[in-house]
Amino acid sequence: MPGDPRDYKIDLSVSAGPSSARPAPPQNRPYLSVLFACCNVYQRIYRSPDGATYQGRCPRCAKTVRFAVGEGGTSARTFIAT
Ligand SMILES: [Zn+2]
Repeated sequence: MPGDPRDYKIDLSVSAGPSSARPAPPQNRPYLSVLFACCNVYQRIYRSPDGATYQGRCPRCAKTVRFAVGEGGTSARTFIAT
């Protein structure tokens, strides 16, 4: 498995915009654990194909979140989407 996902820093940014993107997560793709505070439910969100963001959706209300990979972010792997 090339690269260590923990090398990436994550800038926290949450988008509530609509998204029709349908994630097709392969088993070996890096992911974050996100608590969707809207529905108090955890969900894994996977890194986008271009590797620049993590994008996910609340399994209950379909609220979308996006975390950008970038400098100066956090190396935490668990987030709360509010
Ligand atoms: Zn929700």
